[in-house]
Amino acid sequence: MTIFKKIIDREIPAQILFEDDLCLAIQDIQPLAPVHILIIPKKEIRSMNEATPEDQKLLGHLLLVARDLAQKNNLSKDGYRLVFNTNAYAGQTVFHLHLHLLGGEKLGPIA
Ligand code: 5GP
Repeated sequence: MTIFKKIIDREIPAQILFEDDLCLAIQDIQPLAPVHILIIPKKEIRSMNEATPEDQKLLGHLLLVARDLAQKNNLSKDGYRLVFNTNAYAGQTVFHLHLHLLGGEKLGPIA
């Protein structure tokens, strides 16, 4: 079981910023920007590689939740970044799909 599943099941604590039937948004424990939020589906999907057409609505939902959290954090005008790290070359470390929302300063190049 991954750390994110344990957070979803309330087995370990996290700073929860938003929750609905489909997902949870938490503060990243090692923020890489002034705003660094993780949007995590409750459904266990290992990475984007394992997402299926059945997950289409869920994936869209994660993006819209991230957009709303960006608005709440006043990031909309200056901008922000949304990232799904996938496997080793992207540096994925937790193998439960999650969307990073990064912002609050001018971000460096994407790679
Ligand atoms: P990845 O590298 O897999 O794309 O992103 C995993 C993210 O999860 C990292 O940014 C890391 O800081 C964060 N993270 C790892 N363990 C925990 C944890 O126990 N709690 C929280 N809130 N974030 C975590």
